[in-house]
Amino acid sequence: MKVALVSAEAFPFSKTGGLGDVVGALFKEFIKAGIDVSLFLPFYRTTRDNFYNVVMDSEISYGVPIGFDIRFGAVRSARVSVDVDDNLIVEPSKHGNLFFIEHNEFFDREHLYGTNSGEYIDNAERFVFFSRAVLEVCKAMNLNFDIIHSHDWHTALIPLYLTTHYRECSCFEKTKTVLTVHNLGYQGIFPREKLEVTGFGLEMFHIDGLEFYGMVSFLKGGLFSADIITTVSPTYAKEILNPEYGFGLDGVLRKRQGSLRGIINGVDYKIWNPQKDSFIIKQYSIQNLEDKQENKKHLIDITGIECSIEDPLIAFVGRMVYQKGIDIIVDTIPDLIVTGVNFVIEGTGEYYYEEKVKELQQSYPSKIFTFVGFDESLAHKIYAGADALLIPSKYEPCGLSQIIAMRYGAIPICRKTGGLADTVEDEVTGFLFNEYSAEALKVGVHRFLDIYSDKAKLNHMIYNAMSRDFSWTKSCKEYIKLYEGIIVG
Ligand code: ADP
Repeated sequence: MKVALVSAEAFPFSKTGGLGDVVGALFKEFIKAGIDVSLFLPFYRTTRDNFYNVVMDSEISYGVPIGFDIRFGAVRSARVSVDVDDNLIVEPSKHGNLFFIEHNEFFDREHLYGTNSGEYIDNAERFVFFSRAVLEVCKAMNLNFDIIHSHDWHTALIPLYLTTHYRECSCFEKTKTVLTVHNLGYQGIFPREKLEVTGFGLEMFHIDGLEFYGMVSFLKGGLFSADIITTVSPTYAKEILNPEYGFGLDGVLRKRQGSLRGIINGVDYKIWNPQKDSFIIKQYSIQNLEDKQENKKHLIDITGIECSIEDPLIAFVGRMVYQKGIDIIVDTIPDLIVTGVNFVIEGTGEYYYEEKVKELQQSYPSKIFTFVGFDESLAHKIYAGADALLIPSKYEPCGLSQIIAMRYGAIPICRKTGGLADTVEDEVTGFLFNEYSAEALKVGVHRFLDIYSDKAKLNHMIYNAMSRDFSWTKSCKEYIKLYEGIIVG
């Protein structure tokens, strides 16, 4: 089976967030599973700066029509394997192939998608170019993939191109397409004028095409043309069929319901492992939970909060945006502080919420520590030192922080939605609540506090949480099964 993963980013070659982690991890797992896998990425400036010496110019050139223009691109390639320490290394191997799509005018930029002032104004052109360039390279090199797996809106037009412009091309005769939606909140919506950039005309600008409330939606193009659509948890796959979670695309998704699947993301346990974590003061495992307390002490010391080792310490690590339920966290904290709970908060996001959490710190300086920023090392210390983690998301396609929290024995208190509902077992590995409100979150925290005061019950729950397996190996097997199913079908 020959599989192509096509993404706007993948760790370690390029990354701005979860998408990069997921695609990078999938690529690695497929190599380890012996799949003949290729990964297509843009040749960004950061990729060139870090990997220039290990990639080869394949001397292929191709043209991609962008509106009335033709843009010419190149491709650089490398062969990749995975070493004994589970790192991707660029060297000849039987399986992993890397293809970087090169077009300096589009990709030789400081950032991947935009600057602080906003998205790059030619992102439609950039990702149409990338998507079509991938297909041009497949044609030029006669790469006969069984599966082309696109990720998110940037590459969502690939399945549509394969059923239209590239339909007659023999190298795609047996190719099936999979499109994974990592977060329906990001759809690649552009003004109507960008339609011509896609290479489609008015024949595609209608409700069953690319049109989305008078605009052009790239993701929609993929949703109605991919053989299979996946999203990153089974519950989210059901939720997005409803207007409440569908971001205006629930109608299209309902039409494609028979081809929609949910496969939960994994976590890289090489990075998130309390037994080997070099960011934390004392490594620990299920067998020596008392060492987790050393991490709690350390967290209390470095944050300067006045919390005894016996007092409950609850944390939040994540983006301070509405999706993550930061509004109800902010509303709940004062009441919980009064009952003796201490808080450590780390995140960045919307200015309004960043200011709100800073205000809380000013009001209760000895009870809450707030860090507004991104600090990987502090995040590890928080997972290791906290007793519980708040994850009251409005919606959550998969979520990693609850999985990481469980591995570190910090009990997740989560809203029962998306991947949170699929990974946390209520009263077994964490606490789940239904309603999106400060009141419901407060009840969730009080349910945790009841257990917290009973050490035997608490330790049992920590044991359950730490022993659950959400590794990539498991998720990767599900993708392979899915591919095999559509190739046969
Ligand atoms: P998202 O929707 O942001 O991708 P996830 O729960 O899937 O949410 O993943 C978030 C990841 O980013 C987690 O590993 C979390 O620890 C990390 N993270 C989020 N914000 C910060 C921050 N400010 N500093 C350090 N790590 C962060």
